[in-house]
Amino acid sequence: MARADYPEPVRALILELKKLPGVGPRSAERMAVWMIQHKRRNPQELANALEYADENVTLCVTCGFFSTQEGCSVCDDHTRDENLVCVVEQPTDVLPMERSGAFRGYYHCLGGKLSPLDNVTPADLKIGQLLKRVEKLDGVEVILALSSDVEGEATANYLAEVLAGKNCDVTRIAQGLPAGGGLEHADELTLMRALQGRR
Ligand code: ZN
Repeated sequence: MARADYPEPVRALILELKKLPGVGPRSAERMAVWMIQHKRRNPQELANALEYADENVTLCVTCGFFSTQEGCSVCDDHTRDENLVCVVEQPTDVLPMERSGAFRGYYHCLGGKLSPLDNVTPADLKIGQLLKRVEKLDGVEVILALSSDVEGEATANYLAEVLAGKNCDVTRIAQGLPAGGGLEHADELTLMRALQGRR
């Protein structure tokens, strides 16, 4: 006797859900079963939301933050201080900075950090774009807000080096951000202190 399992479409759905970050086999199964049992509304709404986000969300060509066809909510905000550009690793790092309320300038998302072990070189990050931006923004302060692990440090050192010849001030936020976690997990007070303590 063959042991019964879910029909193939359900197994395919479980397989897809398992690819999502933080979703293990049991949660994937629970979600898939819930979806097929609540067929009326939810799966189609989820599919629509996925398609909507996929078609409409892109990365801003100027700063690398999430943007839509309508533009980037940071770059389009002309009330910000144009003399401040905060360099972060990922677009997700912008949100805790914004929530902390401690920063009112613009951002530049590198798209990662230098890591020889993972073959991430300066050419893989948006460093060329940063240099071009700094050249245009005469006398800007570039604040490096990278993670405090080895790769974050190496990236900050590299940027300080390539920015040294440009007409800008380079500062770094004070230590105290969780190593390896990037800015994502830093709480707002820590961020505020880190920004105020930049040097
Ligand atoms: Zn932008």
